[in-house]
Amino acid sequence: MTPVEPLAAGEHARRLAATRTEMERQDVDTLVVGPSTDLRYLTGFDVKPSERLTVLVLPRDGAPRLVMPEFELPTAAHLPDLVERVGWKDGEDASAVACGLFATGEGRPPRVAFSAQLHARFLVGLLDAGLRAELVDGDVVLAPVRVRKSPFELDALRRASGVADRVVEELAAHGFRGASERDVVRTIQELLAAHGNEPVGSGLAAFGENSASPHHHPSERILAAGDTVILDFGGASDGYRADLTRMFQFGEPDPEVRRVHAIVDEANQLAFEAVRPGVTAAEIDAVARRHIDDSGLGEHFTHRTGHGIGLDVHEPPYIVAGNTTALEPGMAFTIEPGVYFEGSFGVRVEDVFLVTDDGAERLNTSSHAIRVVD
Ligand code: ZN
Ligand code: ZN
Repeated sequence: MTPVEPLAAGEHARRLAATRTEMERQDVDTLVVGPSTDLRYLTGFDVKPSERLTVLVLPRDGAPRLVMPEFELPTAAHLPDLVERVGWKDGEDASAVACGLFATGEGRPPRVAFSAQLHARFLVGLLDAGLRAELVDGDVVLAPVRVRKSPFELDALRRASGVADRVVEELAAHGFRGASERDVVRTIQELLAAHGNEPVGSGLAAFGENSASPHHHPSERILAAGDTVILDFGGASDGYRADLTRMFQFGEPDPEVRRVHAIVDEANQLAFEAVRPGVTAAEIDAVARRHIDDSGLGEHFTHRTGHGIGLDVHEPPYIVAGNTTALEPGMAFTIEPGVYFEGSFGVRVEDVFLVTDDGAERLNTSSHAIRVVD
């Protein structure tokens, strides 16, 4: 399999052009991107970071160049035509090679933006190689570009979420008797792969008291009668992530679990109904939070309402108090209110949504109902 993915015609050109427009707006002279989802987004090159320097150098007006170890050049043979490859040899000063490609600031120190996911050692290496620049967080340029999804990206997100929904239905029929949390996560990853999602991301299964920990790490805990179960997973399609959370119960749920679940589900629905262009991310968070507050459970809703989703499972826009980002068509994010009682149980209901011209499209169609399993 080639590490450079083929994309719809013109997709990379559009992304690079939008990035340049944003560099112009932010007065950034050069953007520097290491192995990361930012690099994958801009070039399709999906490579793991190593100790050897690989960076895309994108000057505002010049050609984008991928600086990388010369002996690895064949792995980037299928880069989009507009990206030039520049190899460096072991023993050479790779940082100096990269620095030579940066735009000058024309009478002032250049403003250079670094992708947030660039390893610190490479930034330090560039500074040691003599880079004199005003350093800028690359998200200033890349976040506003990546947050507006293209039709190609929206299709990939829809596909990924569709597979996650199918896996929920199959899990319900599966039965978990005698299984540990890790067993269930393994089953989830197998089912995701069987239906065509890349089984990326760790997946979460939390039984009984563990369901009160929102980011629980799956353990060898075996399912026991009466356990409330949170399953949170997704995988990816063409790199674009799914992320949903559904509730299961081993045996008939306690009425209190049903009551809390109904409140959390209503918060999810109310937040969904509030989504439309122009509404801020903070307002969506407030809608979900107000409902849970009014139900007397506010102190148990301990995290933000959601997060953007794309090539990263967590990316802008964050659906959180204080985020004044106005929603726009093409943005994608989760709504996932949750309520947790330490030592007892937790409830979360999560779907992915796309902002449309007049509201939102819910990508996850599987029922929110608690699934009783044995
Ligand atoms: Zn999730
Ligand atoms: Zn999530």
